[in-house]
Amino acid sequence: MNISREEIVAHIDTPLLRLISHTADEMQLECYLIGGYVRDFFLYRPSKDIDVVAIGKGTDLAEAVTRKLGKHTHLTLFKNFGTAQIKHKEYEIEFVGARKESYRSDSRKPIVEDGTLEDDQRRRDFTINAMAFCLNGDRFGELLDPFNGMQDLEELIIRTPLDPDITFSDDPLRMMRAVRFAAQLGFDIYPETFDAITRNRDRITIVSMERVSDELNKIILSPKPSIGFILLEKTGLLEILFPELTALKGAETKEGVGHKDNFYHTLSVLDNIARETDDLWLRWAALLHDIAKPVTKRWDPRLGWTFHNHNFIGEKMIPRIFRRMKLPQNEKMKYVQKLVSLHMRPMQLVEDEVTDSAVRRLLFDAGDDIDDLMTLCEADITSKNPVKVRRFITNFKIVRRKLREIEEKDRVRNFQPPVDGNEIMQVFGIPEGREIGILKAAIKEAILDGVIPNEHAAAYAFMLEKAGEMNLNPVDKPGQ
Ligand code: ATP
Repeated sequence: MNISREEIVAHIDTPLLRLISHTADEMQLECYLIGGYVRDFFLYRPSKDIDVVAIGKGTDLAEAVTRKLGKHTHLTLFKNFGTAQIKHKEYEIEFVGARKESYRSDSRKPIVEDGTLEDDQRRRDFTINAMAFCLNGDRFGELLDPFNGMQDLEELIIRTPLDPDITFSDDPLRMMRAVRFAAQLGFDIYPETFDAITRNRDRITIVSMERVSDELNKIILSPKPSIGFILLEKTGLLEILFPELTALKGAETKEGVGHKDNFYHTLSVLDNIARETDDLWLRWAALLHDIAKPVTKRWDPRLGWTFHNHNFIGEKMIPRIFRRMKLPQNEKMKYVQKLVSLHMRPMQLVEDEVTDSAVRRLLFDAGDDIDDLMTLCEADITSKNPVKVRRFITNFKIVRRKLREIEEKDRVRNFQPPVDGNEIMQVFGIPEGREIGILKAAIKEAILDGVIPNEHAAAYAFMLEKAGEMNLNPVDKPGQ
C-alpha cells in the first residue's frame, strides 16, 4: 500500500487531533496515535475510538486536553492503571503512557514500567494493531511501524509482533482476539501464530469468561462467523470453551444411511442468518438451534437417524450454556430458548398441511417473534439439492402468506383472551379456582382451533355453553 505522509496528514488533520498535538508540544511530550484507529485508517474503516500513547504521563496530557476542549467533554481517570478516557462529542479517546511489560511465569500480573514507544508497540497483540502515527507538530503524520504491520495488512495476515508463544502466554485472551480479527476482517492467521495458539490453547482457561464471551460475541457478529468458528475448532479452543458445539461434528453412516455433519450445517445456518440480521441473539439462536442433536441422536432400523425432541432438549440446555458463558440470564436468553424450541414448527406445518388452526397456534406461540422465527427457518435450509431448496422456499412463502392472512383476521399474535378470569368470576359469582382455569383454557382452544372467532360476543356465548356442561349457572343481575 503506497500511502504517503501527506495522505495520512490529510486524514488526521482534524481540530481534535490538532488540539492534542499542540497540547503535547506545549508539554514537550512525545505522543502518538496507535492501535485500532491507525489500522482502520488503512482499511478505510472510519473509527470514533482513538488511542493515544504519550512517552511520559498520559494522564497529564489527558487532563490538559480536557481543559482545552471545554464544554461537552468528560474525563475519567484510572489512576491505578495510569490511563484516562475522554468522551468528547461522538469520540472516545484513551490516553496511556508508553509502557514496558514483563511477565513472570509464576504470575499473570505483569511488571509494568515506563517505556519507549517501541516498548509499547512490542506489548501489543498484533502487528496490524501496533502501528503508530506521530502527533507532534514537526513529525505530524509520520508512520512508525517497527513490526511491518503495513505489510501484514496488505497480505491480510494476523501475526504477533513478538514470538507468538510469548505474546499468547502473556495474555491468552489474545488467542481469541486473533480469531476475532480474522473473522471480522477476513484475514488469515499466520502459520506460526496459528501453531502457537494451538500449543497455548489450554491457557485460555485462566482468562475471565466475560472477556472470552465478549470476543465470542464479536465473532458471532462478524460478516461471516463460520470463519471464526472453524479457526476456534482447528486450534482446539472450541473444544475447551464450547464442547457442545464440537459434539455436533461428524457424520455417521449405518446400513448405508448417513446424516449430515451438524457442525458444518450449524455454521452454514449462522452464515445464512448473518446475511439477514445484525441481531446478536437471533444469531445465537442459529448457533444453538441444533445443539441437542448429539444427545438425542438414535438409530431406528425403520426410520433411520432420528433426533427426537432435539428442539425441546436444546431449549433446556441453553440456561447452563449461558450461565457458563456469563451471558445474560434474562429475556434475551428466553428469546433464544423460544426460537430454538419452535424452530421445527414451520417445517412441520408445511409437511402436515398448512391448516388455519396450525397457523393460528404457531402465531400464538411465537407472538412478536414470528418474523425472526421464519428468518431462522429459512436460514436453516442448507440442502445442496436445488429441487429441495426450491420446494422449501416455496412452502415457506405459503406459510408466510397464511401467517399474514390469519393474523389480519384473528389477531392471535398477541393473544388477549376476549373474556378474562375476572369476567368469568363475576358472571357465575364464583371465586378464583379450577373452574375459571378450565373455562379460560376452553375459550382459548376454541379460538385457536377456529371454532369461534376471537371476539367478545362469540367467546361469551361459548363460555355460557361450556359452563352449562359443567353445571355452572350465571348469577342473575337485577335488570338483566
Ligand atoms: P475494536 O475496537 O474492534 O475492538 P481495537 O483494535 O480498537 O478493535 P481495542 O480492544 O479497542 O481493539 O484495543 C485497542 C488497541 O489496544 C489494539 O489495537 C491493540 O493495539 C491494543 N490491545 C487491546 N487489547 C490488547 C491485548 N489483550 N493485548 C495486547 N494489545 C491489546
